[in-house]
Amino acid sequence: MALQVSELKKSYGGEPVVAGLSFAVAAGSCFGLLGPNGAGKTTTLRLCLGLTAPDSGRIELAGQPIPAAAQTARARVGVVPQFDNLDPDFTCTENLLVFGRYFGLADHDIRARIPALLDFASLGNKADARIASLSGGMKRRLTLARALINDPDIVFLDEPTTGLDPQARHLIWERLKQLKAAGKTLILTTHFMDEAERLADTLIVIDHGRKIAEGSPRELIARHIEPQVVEVYDEFHGRLPEFVENQRALAERVEVSGETAFFYCHDPRPLLARLADADGLRYVHRASNLEDVFIKLTGRELRD
Ligand code: ADP
Repeated sequence: MALQVSELKKSYGGEPVVAGLSFAVAAGSCFGLLGPNGAGKTTTLRLCLGLTAPDSGRIELAGQPIPAAAQTARARVGVVPQFDNLDPDFTCTENLLVFGRYFGLADHDIRARIPALLDFASLGNKADARIASLSGGMKRRLTLARALINDPDIVFLDEPTTGLDPQARHLIWERLKQLKAAGKTLILTTHFMDEAERLADTLIVIDHGRKIAEGSPRELIARHIEPQVVEVYDEFHGRLPEFVENQRALAERVEVSGETAFFYCHDPRPLLARLADADGLRYVHRASNLEDVFIKLTGRELRD
């Protein structure tokens, strides 16, 4: 196991933030830590890295007890933090160089690695560019390259694509898949369900510091939710409430959120037949996804 966590607990000001969490991450896999805002994801990552001391529980990272041997473990680990903390006064090359020195690497060894890392980040032509001249996507890719400076076995990523445009997200996903293919273990937090569904072999969903679901994306969808969804939208005629009331029995579960009703079912055909005759309602039929599971488990109310 790359990471093993058991009965982990951490409170702030008497409030439990991580409330008895246990999970394990197989070496070479991609593990997703999912949860709404404030669920305790970042705190869990910080505990696993030995950056925050737990109140109780056991953590083993890269075979080392945390926090006791955090420094030894961290030599085998790379971290992509949630907010880019590149040094704005330095160039791309200088940022990598300075970061490599934290690991006690010799300058000539770091310099030998830099071209391949910049290529990996698609920043081969930006070696001497200052950080301020980079786009958000470029900065995130440089942060990813920086996390690889010590050739780690395990890479932690805290919301790796938050704030990026679709093109930049896709490029990061490609690179993460390459890292996995190269045998690295990836541990990522995200609240993007499409990201988790794409990348994670196994994931846990946490809420209020507790694990509320665990499995592969496919397992979670199969276990927690009906396989088909029909989303019905109101086309300004105000007919949705009546339609929901009359056709509720055609689905196993119906959820209404704003202008949209979600009909979760095994066989959508009777409902689709009714919709074909329903004026003023638009609809989409699709397979259930991880977002449906997430919403079912954590609710629709906002968490800021
Ligand atoms: P997530 O990453 O899932 O959004 P966090 O782990 O950042 O959640 O935070 C979980 C909760 O713990 C939040 O309510 C946050 O305010 C609180 N918290 C996190 N770090 C601290 C801290 N250093 N001191 C006090 N409260 C904290």
